[in-house]
Amino acid sequence: MRINRVLEKSSGLQSVIDQDLGFGNVFSDHMLVREWADNAWGDATIRRRAALEVEPTALGIQYGQSVFEGLKAYRGTHDEVARLFRPDRNAARLEASCLRLCIPRLPAKEFIDCITEIVSVESSWIPRYRGHALYLRPLVFANEGHLAVRPSSRYLFVITAAPVAPYFSSSTPGLRLKAEGRFTRAAMGGTGAAKTSGNYAPTLQPMAAASQDGFDQILWLDAQEHAFAEEAGQMNVFFRIGDEVVTPELSGTILPGITRESVITLLETWGIKTRSRRVSMRELADASRSGELLEIFGAGTAAVVAPVTSIRHLDEEISVAPQAEESLAERLRETLLGIQHGEIDDPYDWVVPVL
Ligand SMILES: *Cc1c(COP(=O)(O)O)cnc(C)c1O
Repeated sequence: MRINRVLEKSSGLQSVIDQDLGFGNVFSDHMLVREWADNAWGDATIRRRAALEVEPTALGIQYGQSVFEGLKAYRGTHDEVARLFRPDRNAARLEASCLRLCIPRLPAKEFIDCITEIVSVESSWIPRYRGHALYLRPLVFANEGHLAVRPSSRYLFVITAAPVAPYFSSSTPGLRLKAEGRFTRAAMGGTGAAKTSGNYAPTLQPMAAASQDGFDQILWLDAQEHAFAEEAGQMNVFFRIGDEVVTPELSGTILPGITRESVITLLETWGIKTRSRRVSMRELADASRSGELLEIFGAGTAAVVAPVTSIRHLDEEISVAPQAEESLAERLRETLLGIQHGEIDDPYDWVVPVL
């Protein structure tokens, strides 16, 4: 794979320093584009960020044959070096998502080379503040114009980059979740485990209703019984019950988060009993009543680790017990950010410097 560069003078983050970065308000100057045609991936090109040529009947926008990823490049606190966090895991997950959607696979090494190259070109866009990062959004979508529901013969692989602030401001004590009892995100045999575009638009309507009722996010429940916790919005969810931390197991309806995987590794290293298993709302309500529900938190690239204070389930408020000492969520967040910004040791070899 060749990566061509057709660059224009980069303005860099300095040019937008007074803007509210938020999460996707601002984009960098360049993007990477690579096309699949004639049964092969072509060269990749990094060029000025601009609208794409999309077929009006592109199978990707009509039928949702489209998958994406999300990862961040962090600036070193002490050395300015750009660091990626476990891009090999994003590469592997993208391959799995492609397989599920009948999209030609993008070899992991080529994915990582493309990511590294765009980060290197756009390094002036990586924010300096702790917790801020350059968010990378790789996307593969079907771009053949046709009407039949069948795999496309043409695809575009595009990587765009956005300097982002922390997803939730650290001043919020914790999120309030609504356990969604009517709508569901994913069912067995569906696409819940793939990061595919079609999984997200159906969450807008329930999210709008939850937001109107004053909730920050939805806690998705299983599709069969609406009895088991699955995910918190676009985050995996963890519950600290007594001396154990539990998270819903990857049963096929849950997105296998890289933050989730990293959180489990950290907790195990710290000697904290951690289990992947089904977690019922009944169990959570009981634990809340007995004072054993010590913490709830979400984990994902955008938010890193986000504490949750309560879940509304039917008529019941499931709240966490007040904490005196440092929470696990805080410790996890600090450790992950410390590794990501190169402040502390990385014994797991998670970080990949971009030189
Ligand atoms: C991306 C995503 C996550 C988090 O995955 P990370 O790899 O940790 O960023 C969790 N749930 C859903 C539905 C997602 O789309």
